[in-house]
Order: sequence, then C-alpha cells, then structure tokens
Amino acid sequence: MTCTEANRLIGPWLDDELDLRSAVEVEGHLARCPVCGRERNEILALRETARERLPRFDPPPGLEERLLRGVRAVAAPRPRPARRWLREAALMAAAAGLAVAVTSSVQRGADPSGEIVDAHLRSLQAGHLTDVTSSDQHTVKPWFQGRIDFGVPVRDFADVGFPLLGGRLDRVDGQPVAALVYGRRQHVINLFVGPVADRDRPPRSVSSRGYRVSTWAQGGLEYRLVTDVASPDADQLVALLRAG
Ligand SMILES: [Zn+2]
Repeated sequence: MTCTEANRLIGPWLDDELDLRSAVEVEGHLARCPVCGRERNEILALRETARERLPRFDPPPGLEERLLRGVRAVAAPRPRPARRWLREAALMAAAAGLAVAVTSSVQRGADPSGEIVDAHLRSLQAGHLTDVTSSDQHTVKPWFQGRIDFGVPVRDFADVGFPLLGGRLDRVDGQPVAALVYGRRQHVINLFVGPVADRDRPPRSVSSRGYRVSTWAQGGLEYRLVTDVASPDADQLVALLRAG
C-alpha cells in the first residue's frame, strides 16, 4: 500500500468504514510509516478539538424516557449492562440525527461549491477514486470514449509533481462528468470535466469546507478542480491545465 492510498483510507478507517482486508492493510502501513502515522494523529487531534468546541446537545426533558420506552418495547428484558448499552445507543442515535439535520440544512444554504466538495469526498471513500487506474494519458483518455459523449483532454503532469492517478465517471448536479484524479504528495486532486454553454471563462476560486474549488471554462468544457492542497499548488495545476 502506498502513502497516497493509505492517506485517503485513514478517515474511513477511523470511522470503521473499511472492509477487513483494507483495514488490515491500513493498520500495517500506519505501523510502518511515520508520515502516515502523523497524519492519523492529526486527524484524531482535529476531531478531538471539534468535539470539544461543538455545542453540546442536551436532550429535552422526557426524551430519554420516551426513547427508552421505545427501546424497551422492541427489546426483550436483558441483563443490566446490555440495557445500559441500548440506552446509550438510543441517545447517541437521537443526538447524531439532530446534528446531521442541523449540519445539512446549514450546508444546503448558500454554497454552490458544495456539490463539488461532496463529489470529492465521495471519491475518497474506499474503492471509489478511479474506474481506470493509470498514469498513462494514452490509457485514460480512450477509456472515456464511448462512456461519455464529449472528448476529455487528459494529460499527466508527473514531471512537475502532479502525477495523473486515473479517471472515473461521476455525476455533479445530476450531470454525467469525467473525473480526472491527480496526486500532489499525499493529497488527492479531483478535476471534474463536463460540457458547458459559455466556451471560455477565466478561473475563479472559492473555499468550501476546507477545500479549494477552482472553476473555469475553456473550449466548450467546464473544469472544476477541488483539493485540499495549498492554494499556490492548486493554482499551479490550474495554470498547467489551462496552458493547453
Ligand atoms: Zn505512508
């Protein structure tokens, strides 16, 4: 397992979302690789901070009793520890549901880049990053032919530190798009490419949930690049892509 692979699996691994084989591979890599180990520690520290700073959810009076009644109705009498576990699980589920409802209603608000960031995050889940995994533009470009009804310009920039990792089909705003995946050290960059009405539009960058989204149009295609690499790095790749 490479650092790039390990890096995008650390989050899902911490969330117990990996299958056993991937989890074992990630653990093995973390045990050997101090760089990725540090990454894991940073994610854990970040989550700890977030937990401390998020507003605490105090259930309204009576909620606990109502939930417990519901749980009791389903669960047959059990020894005490199991009941306590059920009670905690019910309360946590209620709190989590509330948190998700609040977060998603805030995010749906006024963030046009949200869809792009969502697509980026989806791609980082295990097994979702690439449908065709190759650093060879002559393999990736023809892969899209017949799968999507526009030509996808594909170039590798490994010589300047942005290796092509592969491509996949994706959907953004309900439209099929080509996604090209580049690496930058241990970070992943997604470039979404799709047809657009206005042929040319200069790049514009916004920040969304800690990710940088750069959008431009060129030759009848819209390019949307999303990544968490440093802004100068992202701008460098945008310039490389635009300098056809
Ligand atoms: Zn590593």
